[in-house]
Order: sequence, then C-alpha cells, then structure tokens
Amino acid sequence: MSLIQLLPDHIANQIAAGEVIQRPASVVKELMENAIDAGATKIDVNIKESGKALIQVVDNGTGMNAKDALLCFERHATSKVRKADDLFSLVTKGFRGEALASIAAIAHVEMRTRLESDPTGNQINIEGSKVVGNVEAVCPHGTSFEIKNLFYNVPARRNFLKSNQVEFRHIQDEFERVALAHSNVHFTLHHNDSEIHNLTPGVLRKRVVDVLGRKTNDRLVPIEESTDIVELKGFVLKPEFARKTRGEQYLFVNDRFFKSHYFNHAINKAFEGLLKERTFASYFLFLTVDPQKIDVNVHPTKTEIKFEEEKYIYSILLSSIRLALGKYNIAPTLDFDRETSFDLPSEMKSKPISEPTIKVNPDYNPFHSNSSKPTSSSASKGKKSENFTTAINKHGFGTKEAKTADWENFYSVEDVAKEEEPAPLIEEETTPGISQFLIKGNYIFTPSKSGFMVIHARRAYEQILYTDLINSFITNPVESQTLLFPIEKELSKDEMTSWESNAMMLKQLGFTGELKDGEIHLSAVPSVLQDETIQKALDRIIETIAHREIDKGEIAHELVHSIAKSAAMKKMNLNSMEAVNDIIERLFQCENHAYTPGNKQIIDTLSLESIDEKFR
Ligand code: ADP
Ligand code: MG
Repeated sequence: MSLIQLLPDHIANQIAAGEVIQRPASVVKELMENAIDAGATKIDVNIKESGKALIQVVDNGTGMNAKDALLCFERHATSKVRKADDLFSLVTKGFRGEALASIAAIAHVEMRTRLESDPTGNQINIEGSKVVGNVEAVCPHGTSFEIKNLFYNVPARRNFLKSNQVEFRHIQDEFERVALAHSNVHFTLHHNDSEIHNLTPGVLRKRVVDVLGRKTNDRLVPIEESTDIVELKGFVLKPEFARKTRGEQYLFVNDRFFKSHYFNHAINKAFEGLLKERTFASYFLFLTVDPQKIDVNVHPTKTEIKFEEEKYIYSILLSSIRLALGKYNIAPTLDFDRETSFDLPSEMKSKPISEPTIKVNPDYNPFHSNSSKPTSSSASKGKKSENFTTAINKHGFGTKEAKTADWENFYSVEDVAKEEEPAPLIEEETTPGISQFLIKGNYIFTPSKSGFMVIHARRAYEQILYTDLINSFITNPVESQTLLFPIEKELSKDEMTSWESNAMMLKQLGFTGELKDGEIHLSAVPSVLQDETIQKALDRIIETIAHREIDKGEIAHELVHSIAKSAAMKKMNLNSMEAVNDIIERLFQCENHAYTPGNKQIIDTLSLESIDEKFR
C-alpha cells in the first residue's frame, strides 16, 4: 500500500485558506477588493464583534448570474485572468481565484447576487466548502456577502485571534487602505451598529481628510510628478505633524496598497533633518506604473510588490518629496501679494513703503542654458552704475538711482562697497515697486509680509544650481564643457572601480574621463563648474562614489549635490541690484527654496513680533 495519500478537498482547502485568510480583516479586504473589481460605486461594510460574529459586505457592482454564483466558490475560479499573459498586465485586485474558496472553507457564508439585467438573483449558502443552500432570491443588483462563524472548523486559528479591539483595528486598517485608493467610491463602515466611516465620493484630498480627520487638511503637502516610468501623486504630512508611530504610511501602486522598505527609505531620506527625533513621516502616495513592470505575485497576501524600475522610482520619490517639502515649509510665512504693513515708528509712518517684489518669471525655463550657469554679473567697477541703471530700467523701476542696498562685504564685493553710500535703514524715498534689500555678510535681508526675510545667499545659490541640475539631469545629460588642459588625478583601486561602475551616471552628469595607469584623466566637466571649483567637485564626487554604500538613486542626488555645492563656492559677484534680484528670483523659482539639498536652511523670517520682543 502506498504511503502517500491525496488529501481530501476540504482539508486541502482549509490548509490553503490559512494562507489567504489569517484574520477577519483578511476577509474584509478580499470582499472589498472583489466589490471594487466588480465596478461597485457603493460598498457597505458591516461588522459585529470585530468580525468574529459577522462580516457583511454589500456592493452595487455587476453581480453574478446563477452559474457564476456557484462557480465563484471553486478554487482557482476567477473571471480576471484567462491566459498566462494576463498575469503580466493585471488591472484588477484579485487574480488568484482563491479568496472565496478559502473563505467558504472556513466559515458559514451567505451570498446574494443579481445582475442588473436579471429580475431576480440567487442566494447561495455554503458551510465549510459544502453548498447547503441555492435558491432564487429577490435582492438588489450587486452582491452581498455575510460571513459568520469564521474559523469555526479551524479552532487553532480561532484561538489565535487577538482581542476584539486589535482585530477591529486590523479591519479598519484594511478598510481605510481600500477606501483611500478609491476616492470615487462611496464606502461605509459600521461596527456593532455604530457608524465608523461614511466616506462620500470626491477628490483624493477629500478622501484623505475624511479618513484621517478634518484637521489633516492644513497639514497636507501635495506631491505630484509625472515621468514616462512613473506617475506620482498624493500627499505627505508636514514634518511638524509627524507622529510617534509609523501609522500613517500609505503607498499604493495602481491603486493597490503595498509595503516597501526600500521606498520608505527614499521618503524618510527626503524628510531628513526635518523630523523631530523618534517621529515618523506620514504619507499617502499613489504610484501609477505600467502593470507589465510590476510583479504583484511575490507574496500570498500581496502587500509586497516587485518593481522593475525601483531605483528610478526611488530617486523620483526622493526628489519630488524634497522639493515639495521645501516649498511648503516656507510658503505659509510669505505672502508677496499683500501689501507690507510695517509697524513703523510714528515719525516714519508718513513715508511710503513699497512692497517687496519678488517676481516669478512665467517664461523661466530651467533647461535654458543661461539659467543653468552661474550668475556671471562680472561687472567691473566702471561698469557698475551702468548695469545698475540698466537693471532699474529693465525692471520698469524708473530711472531714479536706487540706494536700497548696502553692498558691503559680500563675497568679492568689499571693494564695491566703498563706493556706495551706506544704505539707510529704511529708505527715505522709495520708488514704488522697487526691490528692497540689504546685504550683510552672507545674508540678503528683504521685507516680507510679517517682518523681514533673511536669505543665506550662498546656500540660495547652491539650491538654484542643484535644482537646475536635477531638472535637466532627469531628462538630458547635464551641459558639459571640454577642458583645455585635462585634469589628472591619482585614484586608489577602489576609487577606480567605483568610477567605472558609475561611469554612465558620471557621463550623464557632464564628466568625461578616462582611466589610465591608476589615474583619471578628466577631459570634460559640467559647465557650471569653474576653474577653482572643478578640483573640489572632483574630490567630492570621488568621495561620494567610493566611500558610501549608497544606492544608485541616492548617488545621483549626492553627486548633483556635490557639483552644486562646489560650484556655489565660487566667489559671487552680487554687486548689482540685477544680480541680487536674479538670485532671489531664481531661488523662488526653485520648488524647494527653504532648504538646501543637505537640508541646511536657506531662508528665515524675522517676524515683527520677534523684533518687538527684543525691544521690550
Ligand atoms: P479573484 O478575485 O482572485 O478572481 P475570488 O475568489 O476573490 O478570486 O473571486 C472569484 C470570482 O468571483 C471573481 O473572479 C469574480 O468573477 C467573482 N466575484 C467575486 N466577488 C464578486 C462580487 N462582489 N461581484 C461580482 N463578482 C464577484
Ligand atoms: Mg478576489
């Protein structure tokens, strides 16, 4: 007699069910996803005793005919995959045809379903995979499931369940994940007859706010980015509202919730330096990618997903969140549209005060070669006043000689400073519309809505270069200049290997070099670099690629950062109003104008209150 025996179907089903249905929440998830796949626009979930007594899911989707109503409980019965190829272009949540068979194997199930075109529907009752009832029924179109006595025949599982509170938390999590991914569907959730959620259809922001609470609305920072490989939309929560638990971290791909340590790393990296200790970033991010380029098949409960182009997506996540965070960190404190209302000493009150004009140039194009080069206002002393007047005329400020700026002591402008009269603290007569600023050391001071804004000029410049480079790097090779005299630098073995393995990216960044006899011979470098900054940049680049165990997506950012940082070390000639205006204007065209890529602060505002405070 053979020792091997085939397991009876009902035992095989129970074993398989354990993989798919681990707890009541798994049932909720599977039934909700089926309802979505059936095109429902309203889905009601009704739970008693955390699913231990009842799980009811009612949808207004397509419903099933009498034959499918029975067939759907068979293992591997699915309407969603017909041929092997379909597996590679899934647009539905389900595809294994296992969920209903699994649920039916370990619970008492009652299903009613009706096609819209049929006058009556069917009611099926199944207990432990056995059909115990199959009758015609009068019911609304769509499908409704009632699951009772879950795990009644798998006591080990049943005993394994946690407290009602914990199990319901799991249910709510699954419910919210599905609801977040489908903001156009109306969902309700009831527990022991009390309403937990009633989510009416609307835009994504509304759904996020409805799920998380009204106060979330002001805390959301929108994220949006679209490339050939991935479309990204959603929100992150402003860093100051980060939570002590990892609760609100939602990633979706093609409207399917998933978990990813790898992408989570990119997101945290974007928040680096912005979060208080032991708090976690919150996010709701939706990726859309070609279904052929993901594999949802790696995990039986499908929360892990493989991405073909994960490195690229990593770097898109990192850059778009960083940019968005920067933008929203500073934006609320500045309001350039409103008139500046200084609380001036009374004797100055009669004098007109002009608004700061930081203009956004709608024609600005980061790909334009001029804008990716450092400002080269190399105005000589003789030419300076001419530039000054030209600038004023050009900006339509009138012809009056401006005396707004204190040119003193700004990088290479000490010499220029002596020519200028020291600027008055508040200008005596200001031409309306003229930009007002004051330069001291590294800083540009300019009035803002609520007081003063201080800009760290070198960091501003670093950020401008970084943004220009990143923008062009993503789509095109960075503009490069051929060196008259190639630079030679000795490299260690490790450094040589790192250079080789990053050669493509370095080329994309504008570096062309040849490895010869333990040396790199560099024949071209990014155009933003100038004589004195090339060597420094090269050192930084080599350090980055050789001594850091970092990912490719991150390396690109680090390298661009290194280039921008080096290029920004160049002496700046902010010796004309035009040059300063240019810096301010370009900084505000950067999506992230609040922080450098290394998360150093670029802008701060001194509120009038804080100044008042000092004089108290
Ligand atoms: P899968 O979702 O992987 O196809 P399931 O076991 O979850 O497998 O469902 C089996 C089949 O039953 C589905 O493919 C679908 O055709 C049908 N079905 C399940 N739930 C519904 C529903 N709520 N409305 C309409 N059809 C459904
Ligand atoms: Mg399914």
